[in-house]
Amino acid sequence: MEGNNVQIITLTSPESASSTSHLLNTSSNLMAGNYSSSSGVLSQDSSSSFSNSIAEDNSSDCKRKKFKSCSSESPKIISKFKPFEEKLEERLWSVLCCAVCLELPLTTIYQCSKGHLICISCFHHLMADSKLKEENATCATCRCIINRDSVYRNLAVEKAIRELPANCQHCNKMLTRMQLYGHENDECEERPVSCCYNRLGCPWRGPAHEKINHEDACQHPNRSGHEVLQYLEKVDKTLKEDKDLLDSILNLISTSDRFHIQDAQFKSFRTDEYIHRLFFETAKFQAFELSKSQLSNDNQNGFQFVVKARVNDDQKDPTQSCERKMTYQLVLKSSKITSPIKVHYFITNSPYDHDEIKLKTKIKVYSYEFSDNNCESPYTLLPLLSSGECNRLLSFKVINFRICMFLEPKQKY
Ligand SMILES: [Zn+2]
Ligand SMILES: [Zn+2]
Ligand SMILES: [Zn+2]
Ligand SMILES: [Zn+2]
Repeated sequence: MEGNNVQIITLTSPESASSTSHLLNTSSNLMAGNYSSSSGVLSQDSSSSFSNSIAEDNSSDCKRKKFKSCSSESPKIISKFKPFEEKLEERLWSVLCCAVCLELPLTTIYQCSKGHLICISCFHHLMADSKLKEENATCATCRCIINRDSVYRNLAVEKAIRELPANCQHCNKMLTRMQLYGHENDECEERPVSCCYNRLGCPWRGPAHEKINHEDACQHPNRSGHEVLQYLEKVDKTLKEDKDLLDSILNLISTSDRFHIQDAQFKSFRTDEYIHRLFFETAKFQAFELSKSQLSNDNQNGFQFVVKARVNDDQKDPTQSCERKMTYQLVLKSSKITSPIKVHYFITNSPYDHDEIKLKTKIKVYSYEFSDNNCESPYTLLPLLSSGECNRLLSFKVINFRICMFLEPKQKY
């Protein structure tokens, strides 16, 4: 239980790390011309002519010769090819890029049944949109239906993207995209770094190669204990939030004599409104066993609950927004309870899920006092690690999770 909590708090999203920033900015400008002429994706004709030319000539020198001879003899044929001045990697951009975001992300790349490419985060976004709109997700290029069963990973494209060159965003050095991640984060001499005395309050941030000179001259180690203390208090404050959360959970575990852990599944439903809104609900489950004398009339051994969830609850049409968030509520289904009960609860991932489908959320403890008249807690935020994480969850048929519930101590139930 404890180990589980610690693990969740420190979780980071593997997708967000790899899908960010290190993309070739200059090339995207260079390639803008291609996109406008081909809508970001090669037409059947141009892609087959590309693959034919690869099949005919394996070496680029050979291709170049052929291209030159074409250019002098028959200008009409040239128009089928990309301008010769473009480098191979620039030409490959439009061949290998995601048909939705037009980027070359270092993530899982899927293809539709006809072979059109889509990166995993765009796939999740399309799947989430389709679920919210109650319609099928379709390939951005050929409009065939896409879902988890109809798309396949394209490992060759994933590997090819890793081998394509891109420029370091700090020093402009050209490396393969695979090397670039490590270079930009750990090796680049121009990458921004902090002074080693930043815990003592030094705000300096500059290129890595200036760090040693700065630290030699930095005045912060010479500051008085009093000044340093002020900065340490700021650091302590941010650490305190994490500690308070752990303390509150430990406190609940050690003081509450009634707690319940439920592994449940959100299944999707539609509201009866004019525009059917998507919502999620679990099956009924029973928590906090009761003795017979404490029972009300409904022949249950404990309280019956369900959990409900919504997406972008504060918006009329969640599909209009790129930012997605999920809120949830705990609903008491038992009627005629003899006196109010206060329940503390939080949602975390189900320990039985493998990593690919595991819910990635921080932990936030909520509490609500249930009574005969107040059976529904307010909708509160499920603190998912990112908006993309919400899309990812929406792309699954069901969402597995675990809810931990604690009955307020000293209650006579
Ligand atoms: Zn994409
Ligand atoms: Zn397609
Ligand atoms: Zn660099
Ligand atoms: Zn400094």
